[in-house]
Amino acid sequence: MGFERTHDIEEVNSEMIGQKVVLGGWIEDLRKLGKMTFLTMRDSTGITQIIVKGEQNDKIQGLNRQSVLRIKGTVQETKAKDFDFEVGAEEIEVLAKAIHPLPIDPLGRLESNIDNRLNSRALDMRNQKTASIFKLRAHVLTALREYLISKKFIEITTPKIIGSASEGGANLFSLEYFGKKAYLAQSPQLYKEQMTIGLERVFEIASFYRAEKSHTGRHLSEFTSVDIEAAFMDYTDVMDVLEKMIRHVYNYVSDNCKAEEKAIGLNFTSPKKPNGTHAGPFDRFTYSYVIEELNKAGEKLEFGDDLLDSHLRIFGKNHPGFYFITDWPIKLKPFYIMEKSNDAALSESFDLQFGYLELSSGGTRLHNPQKLKDRLEKQDLDPALFADHLKTFDWGMPPHAGWGLGLERLLTILIGIDNVREVILYPRDPDRLKP
Ligand code: ATP
Ligand code: MN
Repeated sequence: MGFERTHDIEEVNSEMIGQKVVLGGWIEDLRKLGKMTFLTMRDSTGITQIIVKGEQNDKIQGLNRQSVLRIKGTVQETKAKDFDFEVGAEEIEVLAKAIHPLPIDPLGRLESNIDNRLNSRALDMRNQKTASIFKLRAHVLTALREYLISKKFIEITTPKIIGSASEGGANLFSLEYFGKKAYLAQSPQLYKEQMTIGLERVFEIASFYRAEKSHTGRHLSEFTSVDIEAAFMDYTDVMDVLEKMIRHVYNYVSDNCKAEEKAIGLNFTSPKKPNGTHAGPFDRFTYSYVIEELNKAGEKLEFGDDLLDSHLRIFGKNHPGFYFITDWPIKLKPFYIMEKSNDAALSESFDLQFGYLELSSGGTRLHNPQKLKDRLEKQDLDPALFADHLKTFDWGMPPHAGWGLGLERLLTILIGIDNVREVILYPRDPDRLKP
């Protein structure tokens, strides 16, 4: 056995002067000065200066940055400005060598384009900014779970391999499944609705798949969806859940992600508008209001037209930050969305936006099986293909509502960037299947 690590670097401090430690990490920088080397070594928690002399100095000759070392030494005072202690090396073990030239500069001093970084993602993770984005992502997942669990939502895992193109099949990936045709799920929609029987409030955070040939900063072929479905709630109730959950995420990261904030160069306070003013409650605009405002701005939209990216760019400019668009025409919505009781041309539905960007869609669902069948037929979908789903509606299906939120899109807003590829490890899009 070699020697075991005694401390993470962040656990060592200037009150430990004279104490022996064993550290492990990656060489970030080396500076030779005669028979001595000043070395900075980083682990996932921090960075420290190591002083290497004599026989130990011979061992590290020719070593490149990013090589991996285990160092036994003594904590001592330092003259270095950037550190409040250093470690005098007594025994060095070279655990792995980094072969140069490396495909990207992991310190980010030489800027690499996103494609090169994604092709070398593991090395890109040695860049503290990139690592901090993924630490932040992990914290956001914790915050989401913490909030939903506190509201009595139960985490579920639904199948990703499905036997029929349930929500209309246009953008599904298909695959061969023991001689039969199967598909990758584009959302947990039908399963999560079914689970309101028995579990009442459910959530899922998982990868879903969309075969969309989109080349934008907001579309991935494999993305992470945060989904809820809740019995005895309508669309206004689940909008409240969504708004409060997002506030919780901002509060959580502002309390728990100070180091990430600094490394990414950010300032997380409560949900902010791009101009830095604090947002109050999220604005709620009806679809009809949005059409009216866009037409005043010179667009020629009629009731029933979908809001395209170009429209949302205009509207989003006037309404930076988070807002809802509610009460969409029923004909623009999937078959499972409930119509409004006082106007059957409208639906109990919403999108959550941040400026031009759609973050979430949701609504009250139909829970009456006959109405659901009628709507399927109206949308030219064959109720026979939905038999497994429809039969559950005869088993005591409660009224329910829910939404799906794109995790990567939310992260881009939190960080203030405009490409989802920055916040997912190995993005899948029409041009990218490897690595
Ligand atoms: P868009 O119109 O932007 O393509 P959508 O309306 O088709 O999105 P929904 O079916 O409403 O998407 O999915 C719910 C949420 O999931 C979206 O609001 C978005 O945040 C996220 N999402 C959907 N498709 C993708 C994708 N291809 N890549 C990343 N996130 C996505
Ligand atoms: Mn949508």
